[in-house]
Amino acid sequence: MKWWWRYGQETPNLWKEVVNAKYGKLDNWCTKKNTAPHGVGPWKYINNMKDDFFQEVSFRIGNGTSVKFWKDKWLLNIPLKDSHPRLFLIATEPDSTVASNRDGNIWDIRFRRNLQDWELGEIFDLFKSLERFPVNSQTPDSLKWGESSKGVFSVKASYNRMNTIDVLTDPWPWKLIWKTKLPTKIKCFTWTALKNATLTLDNFKKKKIHLVNRCYMCQKESESVNHLFLHCPVAADLWHMFTAILGISWTIPYCLKGAVESWSLWKMNETINKIWQMIPACIFWCLWIERNSRCFDGTSTPNCSLKSKCLVNLFSWSNLSPVNDVIPLLDFIGSLSVA
Ligand SMILES: [Zn+2]
Repeated sequence: MKWWWRYGQETPNLWKEVVNAKYGKLDNWCTKKNTAPHGVGPWKYINNMKDDFFQEVSFRIGNGTSVKFWKDKWLLNIPLKDSHPRLFLIATEPDSTVASNRDGNIWDIRFRRNLQDWELGEIFDLFKSLERFPVNSQTPDSLKWGESSKGVFSVKASYNRMNTIDVLTDPWPWKLIWKTKLPTKIKCFTWTALKNATLTLDNFKKKKIHLVNRCYMCQKESESVNHLFLHCPVAADLWHMFTAILGISWTIPYCLKGAVESWSLWKMNETINKIWQMIPACIFWCLWIERNSRCFDGTSTPNCSLKSKCLVNLFSWSNLSPVNDVIPLLDFIGSLSVA
């Protein structure tokens, strides 16, 4: 975010020239997007934040030569193409700048045809907003961050804003991962899987690496995070084993995040609950290890042995918990039953 702010605000200098030479300049405010699958570089990752950055940014109009009249956010809190869609459809130059829609001190907006009756409301409304808008042709256009009058970017405000958006739009079940007693590497793996970032074959495809996509476990469906960890018959078998032990009925949700959240909804005593929360991660990890054995070593474990491995892993990890003494595996399985 900070680099996009600097890119838009700073006068031409060496680092901007280097970035422009490598990625190409799109306009005064950003570079072109690099979609090539090869090559790494900080700017490629910075580019991924561009949409989030421009969501928060509007433009202060100076001479109006660098801001798009219809497509940038400068007059209202959304671009004019969204607030006045009928007019945008008949605009002569959809990519024109603010300056090119002015003639001296007068607004001169050009359309491909005469306006119809049903478009008069929009044009009236647009001119009403424009007539109050001050134009200072002596200064260059600049960026404005957020809603405050100062409009200056700060990393802290940006961080807080992103956290607020995440909480409002996509509550993340972080406690169900990071508050468990699982080994750190299993927590990290689970977090990656829930973010749909595990290197399954469909995710390779998103990185423009094309491989034949066939699930290593069932050899029938294509491999995706949701299929491998939830809907593949081998995965479903593991889930069913635990629901049978626990004596509950549970429908496997569509996605991993939904599965972890719904798995956490049952209320039970504290000891079982701590173990219970580890089961999804345990299943994901066992399936991933088995999937990699089949993929890279050509060896496979029969389903019944995979179930045993999964139980043994859960047993060994649950003993990390101070509330659970070391107990034999069979007693441990019996102790899980909530029926
Ligand atoms: Zn499968």
